[in-house]
Amino acid sequence: MEKLFIKDLAVRKKRVMVRTDYNVPLDDDGNITDDTRIRATLPTINYLLDEEAKVIIASHLGRPGGTVNQKYSLKPVARRLQRFLTDKVKVTLAEDCIGENVKKQVEAMDYGDVLLLENLRFHPGEEKNDTEFAKELAGLCDVFVQDAFGNCHRKHASMVGTSRFIPSAAGFLLKKELDYFEKSVNNPMHPVIAILGGAKVSDKIKIIENLAKKMDKIIIGGAMAFTFLKAQGISVGKSLVEDSMIETVNNLMEYAKETGTKLYLPVDFVVAEKFDRMAETKVVPFKEIPERWIALDIGPATTKLFSEVLQDAKTILWNGPMGAFEIDAFSRGTYAMVEMVTSSHASTIVGGGDTDMAFHKAGKAHEVTFISTGGGAFLKLLEGGDLPGIASLTDKKT
Ligand code: AMP
Repeated sequence: MEKLFIKDLAVRKKRVMVRTDYNVPLDDDGNITDDTRIRATLPTINYLLDEEAKVIIASHLGRPGGTVNQKYSLKPVARRLQRFLTDKVKVTLAEDCIGENVKKQVEAMDYGDVLLLENLRFHPGEEKNDTEFAKELAGLCDVFVQDAFGNCHRKHASMVGTSRFIPSAAGFLLKKELDYFEKSVNNPMHPVIAILGGAKVSDKIKIIENLAKKMDKIIIGGAMAFTFLKAQGISVGKSLVEDSMIETVNNLMEYAKETGTKLYLPVDFVVAEKFDRMAETKVVPFKEIPERWIALDIGPATTKLFSEVLQDAKTILWNGPMGAFEIDAFSRGTYAMVEMVTSSHASTIVGGGDTDMAFHKAGKAHEVTFISTGGGAFLKLLEGGDLPGIASLTDKKT
C-alpha cells in the first residue's frame, strides 16, 4: 500500500513533527565530524518553513540507554542546523522531548521557526516502543513526517508509535531513498549488477537470495567469498570461513543457476601470514592460498575480471568492502572497485557504512549517483524486507 507523502498533508500553519536521524559522528570535544545526515533533511525542513509551519524535530543521538547524558545532547546539532537555515529562522533546542515545558515551548514558538527536541533516547520509552511515550510526542503536533530513513528498521516509539495517532507521511529524504532503491533494485535499467562484500555470509545471505531474483550479475568479494570457495572444495588456508553456511551457500549457487543470475567470485587474492599491517604479503591464484596464510583482499587479476563484468552495466548496486580495507596493505581491491564504479556510465547506488566510508576516503563520494544515508535500513530493503518506520505511516487512499 502506498503511503502519504509530505505534499499530501496539510502543513500550512500547522505544528509538524519531523522525525530525523541526526545520529551524527562527534569527536572527543563534541564537534560534529560529518553533517551529511543533517544536510540530507534540509529539503523537508525548508519545505515546512516555506509553509510557515511550526517545525518540531525529533531525533536520537548515540546510545545513552534511556537516561539523560549530556555527552549525547543534540546541542551541537541545533547549532549546525541554525547555520544551514536563514537568519529569519530561529532554531531552539528544547530541554527535553516530552513534558509540560516542551508543550509550552511549542505553544510559544513562532510559525516558521524550529524547535529541536532533546535526544529521544534520554527516555527509556523510546527504544521500548512505549505507547504512552509515543502518544506524548504525538500530543505536541498536528501531523507527523518521517525522514529518519537510517532508523526505519527499528521499532522504536517515535518510529512506529507516534505515527499511529496522527496523520503521518514520508518526507523528502525518505522518498528519495525509496525512489533510488526502486530504480536500482525493483525497476532498474539492465544490465543491473550487484557488488557484495563484507565479512560474513550469514549477515548477507538473505540479501544474496533476494538479489539473485533481481540482478543480472552478482560480484562476491570480501571474506564472504571464502565460504563460497570452500563450498566448492577449494582450500582457503586460514581465511575467514563460516562452515555452518556451506550447505546454504551450495543451495544459493544452485538457486542462482535457476534464476539465471551469474555469480562472480575472486580469482586471486592478496594473502598475509597474519592479520597485521606489518605482515609479509603476496598475491596468489584462488586455488593456491597457502595453508597457514589468510586472504585479506582481492588480487589484480580479480580487479581486471570484475572490471570486465561491470563493462556493460547500466545500474550498479554496491554494499560491503572487497577486503580488510581499513589496513592499507589490504585496501587496494576496494579502492580499485571505487575507481571502476565512479568511472562507469551506469547509475550507481551505494549503501552501508564501510562502503560509504571507502568512497569518502577516496574523495569520490560526489561521483556516485546516490549514497544511502541508512546502513541497517538499506540492508533490510536489500533483503526484501519491510521497514516498520515506513509501514506505520498513513496509507494513501486510492
Ligand atoms: P560487513 O560489515 O559485513 O560489510 O563487513 C565489513 C568488514 O569486512 C570490514 O571491516 C572488512 O575489514 C571486513 N573484511 C572484508 N574482507 C575481509 C577479509 N578478506 N578478511 C577479513 N575481513 C574482511
